[in-house]
Amino acid sequence: MPDLEPPGPLPKRQFASDNYAGVCPAAWAAMERANAGHAVGYGDDAWTKRACDLIRNVFEIDCQVFFTFNGTAANALVLASLCRSYHSVICHRHAHVEVDECGAPEFFSNGTKVLVVEGEAGKVDCEAVTRCAKRRSDIHYPKPKVLSLTQATELGTVYDTSELDAVSETARRLGLRVHMDGARFANAVASLGVSPKEVTWKAGVDVLCFGGTKNGMAVGDAVVFFDNDLAAEFDYRCKQAGQLASKMRFLAAPWVGMLEDDVWLNNARHANAMAELLEAELRKLPDDVGVEVTTPRQANAVFARIPSVIDSAMRGERGWCYYDFYGPAGARLMCAWDTTERDVTDFVRDLRQVAGVAGS
Ligand SMILES: *Cc1c(COP(=O)(O)O)cnc(C)c1O
Repeated sequence: MPDLEPPGPLPKRQFASDNYAGVCPAAWAAMERANAGHAVGYGDDAWTKRACDLIRNVFEIDCQVFFTFNGTAANALVLASLCRSYHSVICHRHAHVEVDECGAPEFFSNGTKVLVVEGEAGKVDCEAVTRCAKRRSDIHYPKPKVLSLTQATELGTVYDTSELDAVSETARRLGLRVHMDGARFANAVASLGVSPKEVTWKAGVDVLCFGGTKNGMAVGDAVVFFDNDLAAEFDYRCKQAGQLASKMRFLAAPWVGMLEDDVWLNNARHANAMAELLEAELRKLPDDVGVEVTTPRQANAVFARIPSVIDSAMRGERGWCYYDFYGPAGARLMCAWDTTERDVTDFVRDLRQVAGVAGS
């Protein structure tokens, strides 16, 4: 018998990323059901058909759906398919496609350049987009072709319907296609309480990379083309990039488990609610502790500046993990589908203790 014990003590739940969480029961159960017997490979199976149909139901439109192993591939291949090598993609300075994909969009597009703009709280500023697109119109400048938005943003904020209408109107005026990086699309929809179509194709989004992993699946993001013409030959692009799953049913089945009975939205609502609780608890800390929430919390992330002495004790002796890669935004505390109220209160209790708050 192989040793199936985990290597070392079970780590506690952390606030580092929603991808620290495991697979949610609905996704797991669907994988298990998909494991019964044989099925055709490469996506010609009933699970894949069902998952695509459910995604079409979610968006209430006849869209084209593809599955990739992760979000980086989804984003990079979509941008490559929307652009020629001499084009450019405009996105926010903190966008995942710019800072967290190791140049995959540029690589898969054979040179399409990513151009960055500023904007409050992780959202692109329409005037900055216009300036960037119009900076030059000569042959020496990489021709702007796509505006890429992240929903929910890298700073945990959410574009509401009217903000999306405004940015996509800006894009349309500039002749840009709109790509949405929806690694946390579920959290955005849960936060806004709108139907998914209101914040996608009705708001001018041409292609959505619909994240499944951070919402409770093991692996697999969906690419959703709302303009069917743009999806032409995307299947070849996936195959060439090593993103066509041979046993596709195992990428598709979790989507069936997540989309039936709105598990995807319930997972996201839960993660958002835990972040809301965490934010409320941090705001209750006495002012002299010096913890400051820096960005409006709208989805499942809380950003807070934590004084360095407290920060080192939290990460060191108390064993908490979290990131702080967005500089002035401070520590990023990310909640997941399985974060519990207890996790939140444990974290805040440790924080109060290391800060020496009386009575903690
Ligand atoms: C996690 C994430 C992705 C996808 O990342 P992978 O690790 O490639 O799955 C894309 N965009 C954003 C904003 C993310 O947070």
